[in-house]
Amino acid sequence: MSVKIVYKNCTGCQACFRHCPNDVIGWNEEKKLPYIAYQDECSHCGVCALECKFDAIKHTMPLACWLDISTLTPAVRPVKDFNWRNWVVK
Ligand code: SF4
Ligand code: SF4
Repeated sequence: MSVKIVYKNCTGCQACFRHCPNDVIGWNEEKKLPYIAYQDECSHCGVCALECKFDAIKHTMPLACWLDISTLTPAVRPVKDFNWRNWVVK
């Protein structure tokens, strides 16, 4: 799994940096932009994406997270339907 910052959308508002409970997101004072400082510490709680008002945080998950290994069928609906902002699968 990984969390990424989409810099073309990022305004440098610092919301993700201020709200990440695990201090995964660092702040580059020179560039005035956030960066992913400790990817492995990310618990994918979704707080950064919820707090970002500019759609500049993306989470990705490996296929294994979306499949039921015993049946090889999707455990949840496709990733494109997952809405991190509302925490629901539509
Ligand atoms: S909350 Fe979004 S727009 Fe603000 S600094 Fe973080 S990624 Fe950039
Ligand atoms: S998903 Fe949670 S732990 Fe991971 S970077 Fe965002 S706020 Fe931090």
